[in-house]
Formats: sequence, structure tokens, C-alpha cells
Amino acid sequence: GSNVETLEFQAETRQLLRLVIHSIYSNKDIFLRELISNASDALDKLRLESLTDSSLETASDDLHISLEVDPEARTLTVRDNGIGMTRDDLVELIGTIAKSGTAGMLEKIKESQDAATAESLIGQFGVGFYSAFMVADKVTLCTRRAGTDTGTRWESDGEGTYAVQDVDGLDVGTSVTLHLKPADSEDGRADYLSESKIRQIVKQYSDFIRWPIRMDTERPGADGGTTRETDTLNSMKALWARPRTEVTEDEYKEFYQQISHDWLPPAETIHMRAEGTFEYEALLFIPSQAPFDLFSRESKPGVQLYVKRVFIMDDCEALMPNYLRFVKGVVDAHDLSLNVSREILQHDRQIHGVRRRLVKKVLGALKDMQSKDAERYTNVWEQFGRALKEGLVEDTDNTEALLPLVTVASTHDPDRTTTLREYVERMKDGQDTIYYLTGESRAMVENSPHMEAVAAKGYEVLILTDPVDEVWVDRVPAFDGHPLQSIAKGQVDLGESADGEKEADAARAQREEEFASLLPWLTDALSEQVKQVRLSSRLTTSAACIVGDAHDVTPTLEKMYRAMGQ
Ligand code: ADP
Ligand code: MG
Repeated sequence: GSNVETLEFQAETRQLLRLVIHSIYSNKDIFLRELISNASDALDKLRLESLTDSSLETASDDLHISLEVDPEARTLTVRDNGIGMTRDDLVELIGTIAKSGTAGMLEKIKESQDAATAESLIGQFGVGFYSAFMVADKVTLCTRRAGTDTGTRWESDGEGTYAVQDVDGLDVGTSVTLHLKPADSEDGRADYLSESKIRQIVKQYSDFIRWPIRMDTERPGADGGTTRETDTLNSMKALWARPRTEVTEDEYKEFYQQISHDWLPPAETIHMRAEGTFEYEALLFIPSQAPFDLFSRESKPGVQLYVKRVFIMDDCEALMPNYLRFVKGVVDAHDLSLNVSREILQHDRQIHGVRRRLVKKVLGALKDMQSKDAERYTNVWEQFGRALKEGLVEDTDNTEALLPLVTVASTHDPDRTTTLREYVERMKDGQDTIYYLTGESRAMVENSPHMEAVAAKGYEVLILTDPVDEVWVDRVPAFDGHPLQSIAKGQVDLGESADGEKEADAARAQREEEFASLLPWLTDALSEQVKQVRLSSRLTTSAACIVGDAHDVTPTLEKMYRAMGQ
């Protein structure tokens, strides 16, 4: 009809499809996980909408996902009776990638030297719906949005264009039909038409999906023929509601991988139950690897909220502070309304209490890991340390718990990082201050003229090269009673002995006399660039260096503010 339209994929989508089709991704089974997860999201959305829109009540009956196999046509269909999409939704959601940082990520994937790196990058990025093209040479999607009359059929071979067309007579919801690649082609080797293969993939990747995943199966009947019956393939177990002693490591790992779409096991699992006036269960995970967009503006918190086993929302920001956005998991609160909104949660006193408790748990788990499994901790800090340091700025209530976790480079040992505790243990007799210097790179900091006098004294200096370091060191006055001080700011008191000081004073007086006319002249000549030129005791080999006022913004911070558009 006249409503058939052939459209082009957005350039970035085309690139991604090309990467997916000529797949560098060796684990093709995950396509089913992605489609089932989309179906499950669509069912959640319909259930949520039906709570406030009574016209959707009947549509939200018997919500489920079904898998259908047609061996003759070589198709596998994933069907849901969820929210569905309008024609515009389809073009917007399936034709384009909205993720920020996509272009950069695609570039990185293309440039990656080996399949494993590419795979890990793609895994972090998440290919979602497009993963269907790893196993199919054509995908047909039929969908009708709940509350609308006309459905849409979408079809593509993933090469560059897709066709959309209005169709009548569709049920509410979405079906995605994969025309599987030939079984004899390398990509089609796994038999995605076989019942046992499908069962195995669902068990492995989608067992905890909270809606039934059904499939018609044929069983030998008593009379020698076959009987058809409908099986539910997933157990839908709410793992978090079971006692810890009854859950195996493997179950935790699989649950984590299903909710996070990560293919690595988590670095830490936290399972707790709170009883009393506000009951809840929490099952949280610290991943082993940071997602690629952890530091992009769109990065979202990773905790889902349930109320008595009913899924309420993803990305629940009320349950986890921004700096712990990498923590994944589930919180199931017993005494909340199913209609609870983000707005209400932000202001709920009970939820604030839950959040405080969860933060303590996570920071406590990190502390334990630090003392019991240094290697695992080092990896976690490498992945998430920058985010945790944001906590020193954002969450001053937990400074005491966060500071000991901080691990930074230092002049003590170029090959090892140090904690503040270790620094303090190495402090020289009479040294009271923790010295640090911030800069763009380790080399720049080490070669800074500011280092000279401190190095000559034999003091250790912390080398801070993350932009966020500039911010937290300003907010944290001291560690364990020892003030933190930048060797680039103000007058650095290098803790000389009284005698030494007298001698130094005498020497300085003499030198000041020598330079009496030079200093004002220099100050005047450089008045555009500097406030004052003065004699320094901090240099041993360099002739001059620039020092900030104690409250000046440092050059790196200046740059960071500029980058943030401030
Ligand atoms: P993501 O799930 O991470 O958003 P996907 O590529 O898997 O990315 O899906 C893109 C979007 O397409 C989804 O966010 C959703 O809005 C829409 N979508 C995909 N599958 C379905 C479905 N079965 N029902 C309704 N909407 C869907
Ligand atoms: Mg998805």
C-alpha cells in the first residue's frame, strides 16, 4: 500500500549493524537474552500504565512472553503482549541509537586489535535489539501500541535500510521474527530452532525474568502420537527473597549477569534483609568492570526497586547516591505502594534510611575486600576509584568510610600505589602534614619544580592526577588528624627544627637584601601574569616556579571547570 516506507538507518546504527553482522561477537546466544529483556521491559511498562489507565486493564491480563519456532520457514519468534510501539516509536527507537558516546565507542571497537577486546567493548556498550542480526539475515517485527488501533510491520536485512508499513489486525504487543541464517553457514551453526538449545539459553540467561517465558512443546503421547503442551521455561525465582544459605555462588553470578547484561562475574555480592518497621531485602553487586559510559552524563544508577516481588522501576536513584551508580542489584521493599513514583521516593524518609544503610553496606564490603583480598580490591579501585572519589565531595557524611579506601600514586614507590594509612605510617619524625601535588600526569607532577624542596627534605608526596582529586582534597581537611596540604599552594611549612629555622631566617634576610631591588622590579614587569615575586626556599635546582595562593583554583581544576562549561 501507499503507507510502505523504506528508511535508512542512522549512520551510527549502520556502523554498529555492520560490526554485529560480521560478528566479532563470538557468543551469539545472547541475542535471545536481549530480545527477552526487551519483551520483559514492555510487559513492565504495560502493567505500570494499566495502574493509572483503566482502559488498559484487559490488555494487561496474562502478561507473558512466548517463543515460537517454525522449522520449515526457519524462523524463531519472540512475542510479548506488552506495551508495543507506534510507527513513530519504531523509527525513533529501532532506527537510531540514542546513547551518548556512541561514535567514540564505535571508533574504539573498530580500532581494537583483537576479537577479545572488541567483544569486551561491545559487551560494555550493549547491542540490544541489533544483536538479532548476529543470527538472522532478516528480521520482521510486528507491533501495536496499547491504546492505539493500527499496528506496524517493520522489516530489515540489517544492511542499511528498513521498511515500515501499517497493518491491521495485530494484537497489542510486539513480535520479533528472526529469519535464521542457513544452518550450514558458520554463523548459523548453533541450532536456534532446537527446543533443547532454546531451553538451555533461557535457563542460562533469562531464568530470573519476572514474566513467564512460554513455549509450545511436543511430547510423545500415550497413543504413540504426539501431544502439544505449553511449558514455562524460566523459574522466575526471586533470588533475593531466599535465605543466603540457600543460594549458591553460581546462582548469584547468573542473576547478576542477567540484570546487568555483564558477561563477567561480579567482584562482590551483598545480600541482606532488614526487619523491623521498614522491611526490605537487598541483593547488590559490585561489578568487576566499569561500563564505558560511567562518566558520561547519561550514566544511570543500577538498582532496581521491587515492592513485594513486583517490579516497580529500573535505575532507582533514590536508593543509591550518584557516586555509587556502578552498584547493580535489586531492593525489594515490603511497605511501599505499587504506585510509588520517583518523586515520592526522593522525599521518603524510610527510603532515605534504606539508602544510608545500603551505602554503609557497600563501603563496608569494599573495606573488607581491601583488607582480605588486595588484588581484587586493586582491580575494583582501578575501575571505580574515580567514582568513589566523587563521594568525598558528594557524601561528606561518609568521609570517614571513604578516605581509607582511597588509593593513589606517590613518590614513595613508582610501581605501587599507597593508601593514606600507609603514607601516615611512613611519615618522618616531626612530620605532621600529608603532602600532595596535583597535575595532569605523573610525569608532570614528578618533574614539577614544587617537588624539589620537599624531595630534598625526604618527604613523601602523593601524586594526584585525576581531575576529581583537585576537588576532594579541598573538601577533606585531614586524614587521621593529619592535614592534607598541596605543596604548590601558599607557604609550605616544611617543619624545620628551631635551630635550622634561625639559621634559615638569617640566610633569608641576607638574601632578601641582595635581591631587594630585583623583586619589586620583577613583580612590576610581570604584573599581568603574577601577583607577587618572592624569594623561595622550596627550589633547589630550578630558578623559579609559579605558586598558587592557598585558595586559588589550580590549573587542572580550571581546565575541568572550563570543560564542564562553567
Ligand atoms: P535498550 O533495551 O537498551 O533500550 P534495545 O536496542 O534493546 O535497547 O531496544 C531499543 C528500544 O526499542 C527499547 O528501549 C524499547 O523502547 C524498544 N523496544 C525494543 N523491543 C521492544 C518490545 N518488544 N516492545 C516494546 N518496545 C521495544
Ligand atoms: Mg534491550
